Amino acid sequence: MNKQETLEQLDLDAYELPEKQQSELNQFLKICREFMDHCDDEMVARAFKLCYASHQGETRASGEPFYEHPIEVAKIIIRELGMDDVSVAAALLHDTVEDTEVTLNYIEQKFGSTVANLIDGLTKISGVFKNKGTKQAETFMKLLLTMAEDLRVVLIKFSDRLHNMRTIQPLPRKKQLAIASETMELYAPLAHRFGLFQMKSELEDLSFKAMDPTGYKFIARKLRDKKESREAFIEEVMNPINKQLEDSGFQFQIKGRPKHIYSIYKKMMRQQKPFEEIYDLFAIRIILDDPHTKEDCWRVYSFITDWYTPIPERFRDFISVPKANGYQSLHTTVITHTGKKVEVQIRTKKMDEVAEKGLAAHWKYKEGSSEGKNIERFVHWIREVLDNPRPDAATEFVEDFQLNLYTDEIYVFTPKGELRTLPQGSTPLDFAFEIHSEVGERALASKVNGQMAPLRQELKSGDQVEVITGKKVNLSADWLNDVKTHKAKARIRQFIRQQEREIADKGRELWEKKASRSKLEISDQELSKVASRLKFPSLHKLFYDIGAGAYDVTKLYKYVKKYKDKGRFSDDEEKITPKDAKDSEDNAYEIVYDESTLTSASKGLVMNGEVTDVKYSYAKCCNPIPGDDVIGFISREGDVKIHRVTCKNTRHLIQTDGDRVVDVKWAPFTGDQFTGAVKIVGEDRVGMINDISNVISKSLNTNMKSINISSDSGMFEGTLILLVKDIKHLENVIQNLQKIDGVKLAYRYE
Ligand code: MN
Repeated sequence: MNKQETLEQLDLDAYELPEKQQSELNQFLKICREFMDHCDDEMVARAFKLCYASHQGETRASGEPFYEHPIEVAKIIIRELGMDDVSVAAALLHDTVEDTEVTLNYIEQKFGSTVANLIDGLTKISGVFKNKGTKQAETFMKLLLTMAEDLRVVLIKFSDRLHNMRTIQPLPRKKQLAIASETMELYAPLAHRFGLFQMKSELEDLSFKAMDPTGYKFIARKLRDKKESREAFIEEVMNPINKQLEDSGFQFQIKGRPKHIYSIYKKMMRQQKPFEEIYDLFAIRIILDDPHTKEDCWRVYSFITDWYTPIPERFRDFISVPKANGYQSLHTTVITHTGKKVEVQIRTKKMDEVAEKGLAAHWKYKEGSSEGKNIERFVHWIREVLDNPRPDAATEFVEDFQLNLYTDEIYVFTPKGELRTLPQGSTPLDFAFEIHSEVGERALASKVNGQMAPLRQELKSGDQVEVITGKKVNLSADWLNDVKTHKAKARIRQFIRQQEREIADKGRELWEKKASRSKLEISDQELSKVASRLKFPSLHKLFYDIGAGAYDVTKLYKYVKKYKDKGRFSDDEEKITPKDAKDSEDNAYEIVYDESTLTSASKGLVMNGEVTDVKYSYAKCCNPIPGDDVIGFISREGDVKIHRVTCKNTRHLIQTDGDRVVDVKWAPFTGDQFTGAVKIVGEDRVGMINDISNVISKSLNTNMKSINISSDSGMFEGTLILLVKDIKHLENVIQNLQKIDGVKLAYRYE
């Protein structure tokens, strides 16, 4: 008898679990009863037994028995999502059909069609996730379509991933990164879209922790350090209010939780601000216990504004007008007596659950007796979005679609209803180039949601876009500022270069005519020297300026003639030095130092724990430095490109070309010098550049490759490209830069 037959002939009701597992089952049923109004204990017990029997002998990477995983997933389903017994059974059996001998038929026989359908849906969904060839948007659509049949499938899938993320530690690093980046790219945004806010936050934090343990620990430690002062602040603000609330018979809780770790990190990166500034942005939440009502929220609001001055523009009433995803709360920002601003959110306990758990809370607070109603409504909502992507048809749904978006992408539709993914901030021009480069080149105007709209208008998710094209190419260099996508930018740049070339050719023609008429003979090489004397970056640029009418060809002729006559340049100028190179006209200059300071000592790459002589190089996108968490990608030529783990491209590559990932480590000391970029911001004062150069030159063995500074209304912003030994070295230099008088900010920059 094979294993399948053995398993399927089990009499699950009579099957006796070993003592340990029996007591686990009892414990499990207790949790079910605690969280569920109705629970088919017998069905759950049968599912539990089959889960144990079918996974018997299997272990997880941690060495723990495998069956514990589905049990933990089921517990998330019960405790964190408040789902029903059918979902619990499906969660217990979610890996059986894919990984064991158990068949779908058998599950249908023993547990009914609902459980079987859920498991079937889960098996299908995992196919969608595994199929990495498809574009992300398509995957997303497929997923939505699959889940729309039964939302519970998605919730179980998320719980499965959440547990896998919680227990990711024992896996090899490469696998951890693959799972974490997929979670970040796919699961977290989807969880957010489905209103599973708490789950989204945890998924993000766990992924971040796996991808960048150092960064995670840094913020976690800072949060711990700040806990006391945060609590003291809340107490100070809330003390007078608390008393009044208690006197008026209110039952409530105060929460002042800071944002989750990854969102703090993201904000620090995006706004380039230190932890302290981001961290301060937390809201105080007043949550009224049952059976307080929305009217009570308004009373609390009036207590608060009696005591503190509210900022009227910051007031939001999401109670009377809930967000489309069901979020309800009153938001007000008040000024405390110490002059600090703080946001206060007031809501009932039910509203708070919706805010934290979104959809899952709707589930819990089922209205009336028909528990399926909310699921139905949600499924209806998704279908509506899919069937009617045009805002005029279903404004509310599409609005919600937007509210729920937090990714860097927007989803827009062609006139035929096809979905296109574009980066946030894209315009109809991006859309046009996305459709076809010819459509982009000939774009004249666009219609957004049926209305004429400028080509440079920013698009929103859910917009339906139509591009009106002319017969001829209409592309203009100005468009470069109106597009976001790489595709559009590349095409426009190509166009600009082509145009420049034509103008430069025209300039050369003008010059050659002039020269030949005057019988002046000069080689390109000599002319290049002239160009650089005249401070043109290249001969090409000189010709371009002539062609464009920005530089007089006669002027050039006179200059060249003088040079020819004397056999040298007459007006020998000072060589440009960093100190006085500041170009007064546009307030920007650039100094490029000799690159010969870059050593190329290669001591071999430590790959998968072994020193190899594989050729390798450092990725230009993220410029890794010893001390950074790094990873290698084998290129098609067989050499290895080293990226930082936190690099955006890394995330993408892990997903699309996971097979090419190799674990790499820094050799103890390579002797190489590494490129590190530092952004520096401060007051624009006399001698600042000097001070910066001094700090660099006094920092041991630091070489400056380039410095690029621009200033505007009393402030300057600069980028220094330095050559350093390792991360500590770079941090040291940054610390010294920060000490310069007038420097506001100095930080590493990719
Ligand atoms: Mn699983």
